[in-house]
Amino acid sequence: MTTPTANWSIPTAVRFGCGRIAELPDALAIAGIGKPLFVTDPGLAKLPVVADTLAILDKAGIAHGVFAEVKPNPVESNLASGVDMFRKGGHDGVIAFGGGSALDLGKLIAFQARQTRPVWDFEDIGDWWTRADATAIAPIVAVPTTAGTGSEVGRAGVLTNEATHTKKVIFHPKMLPAVVIADPELTVGMPPFITAGTGMDALAHCLEAYCAPGYHPMADGIAAEGVRLVLENLPKAFADGKDIGARASMMSAAAMGATAFQKGLGAIHSLSHPIGALYDTHHGMTNAVFMPYVLAANRNAIADRIERLAAYCGIAGGFDGFATRILALRQELKIPHALGGLIQGLDMNEARKDLIAEMAIVDPTAGGNPVKLTRELARSLLEDAVSGT
Ligand code: NAD
Repeated sequence: MTTPTANWSIPTAVRFGCGRIAELPDALAIAGIGKPLFVTDPGLAKLPVVADTLAILDKAGIAHGVFAEVKPNPVESNLASGVDMFRKGGHDGVIAFGGGSALDLGKLIAFQARQTRPVWDFEDIGDWWTRADATAIAPIVAVPTTAGTGSEVGRAGVLTNEATHTKKVIFHPKMLPAVVIADPELTVGMPPFITAGTGMDALAHCLEAYCAPGYHPMADGIAAEGVRLVLENLPKAFADGKDIGARASMMSAAAMGATAFQKGLGAIHSLSHPIGALYDTHHGMTNAVFMPYVLAANRNAIADRIERLAAYCGIAGGFDGFATRILALRQELKIPHALGGLIQGLDMNEARKDLIAEMAIVDPTAGGNPVKLTRELARSLLEDAVSGT
């Protein structure tokens, strides 16, 4: 009997639990950070959650800078300003605090601050990451305030290239945060739209990782339990943002999704990335719109797996039962069935559709789809999501 070979990596130290943000000074000490740059987004910077966290640093006598210029779907100019502040402030590490946008940009600042090559030289293609000076990457402590992207346990940062209108995944193994503080109380203030969108992002990660071809039973197990956690807890967190049990389960599911997707993602993400880059839509919401169409298109390749997943999640009816549950979940979370519900005045001409299909098939996630993502398939999935049929 031949045994399979695979590359696995296990994420980092995660301090999980309510109130654990109080351990931030200790986490910094363990990461070897004496003068952190605190990276967050402007919306979050106005909320008490940031003031309270900065007060913890002040009380511990930790000098810090604050960079709060991260826009949702961060862009290269955000990175340039953050790197500039990191260098001028003499910082030796980053606290990446927020949703996926702030986490990614914080990680990218820590990465890029002491590199000499442009960030686009480190796109997640083959072994481009080996071009980086690995000794120059500053340590990161990550503190998620949404429960979706799982960027806190990931080795990549997503950045939009404004010149080419493309969303790029920048990867380096050392971009993995040294310590994560996963405190579900920090997510309580998320409004329902963000709760729904980020939660569906976690679901998309778990589902696509679970369905991706390849041998990775560890990722499969993590992904299946992540799907169960989302199905049971996302409606509760959406209905009552203060349901801390549901918030905690969603925070776990988010980290599990990002742990599992080292196995691969698929067409949901391949299509969501160009839409996010061209229309600046919320990433998780965009994934949620594409989810049922991609599930249906992949059916022949994944029916057995989804049947097993449905049984594990206590859903009757095999593949059809699972697909129906996804549609019902989207409806419960008030997620639109077509892209027009996310993008006001959407009027996509044929050339634009061709462009999106082209961008989707070269997206690094396309290779993980259980059915080959051809130009024709990408185009037809896009048509489905535009027409809502
Ligand atoms: P986000 O970080 O863009 O935040 C969305 C909004 O939620 C912001 O306005 C923010 O201020 C607000 N917000 C965040 N936390 C809040 C809280 N606790 N209370 C109130 N408001 C809060 O959203 P996101 O979905 O977490 O991240 C999306 C980004 O992450 C995209 O750029 C996407 O491409 C990227 N992403 C990265 C990975 C990865 O592996 N690195 C994976 C998936 C997505």
